[in-house]
Amino acid sequence: MTFSDLGLHPALVQTAADLGYEAPSPIQEALVPTLLAGRDAIGQARTGTGKTAAFALPALHKMAGTAGGAVQVLVLTPTRELAVQVASAVHTYGRAFDVRTLPITGGQPYHKQIKRLRRGVDVVVATPGRLVDLVGQGAIDLGHVHTVVLDEADEMFSMGFADDLDAIFDALPDDRQTALLSATMAPAVKRLAQKRLRDPEVVSV
Ligand code: AMP
Repeated sequence: MTFSDLGLHPALVQTAADLGYEAPSPIQEALVPTLLAGRDAIGQARTGTGKTAAFALPALHKMAGTAGGAVQVLVLTPTRELAVQVASAVHTYGRAFDVRTLPITGGQPYHKQIKRLRRGVDVVVATPGRLVDLVGQGAIDLGHVHTVVLDEADEMFSMGFADDLDAIFDALPDDRQTALLSATMAPAVKRLAQKRLRDPEVVSV
């Protein structure tokens, strides 16, 4: 299997080649076609498996030629470190499309994040607490988000973000694609999947 077999936009196939990725990893082989088909998905995968590209490449595929408007893609992560890392990966994978990516996490000044949002952002990678604050302040509009990714969902529950996740999902459009990545399928993760995902395909590697 090659990256072009996955059905990705040629510019993304080229980016993978430029990065020295010779072939898709197992989670990429399984998740990319499912997400490109528009399905919701649950991916059981640990760090180091290539899970970031597995959710980021299909999200970027959908954004080809449409960057420059409202926030289209929202990735939620449990920690600031992971948000920064994922935002950097999305920036790298999306460079052919000039995608503007912003990490939104606690411990950073509000005004800088709000200023960046005003200038326009395509992909937000956020920790739940700070995102809820900004939604409450009316500083971010989630009304045009078509793709939502929960990265390390089990960790988000371990860190006490259950209520924040509920508030965020309530602020998102119903018409969206949702992918949930988790190392384990803890009961809280299963409940969230049941409540917020639509007929998800379960992918485990
Ligand atoms: P992740 O699990 O998303 O944190 O990715 C782990 C590492 O694997 C990162 O350094 C990626 O750049 C790298 N990576 C992701 N996909 C591939 C691939 N198909 N081939 C080689 N390296 C990859």
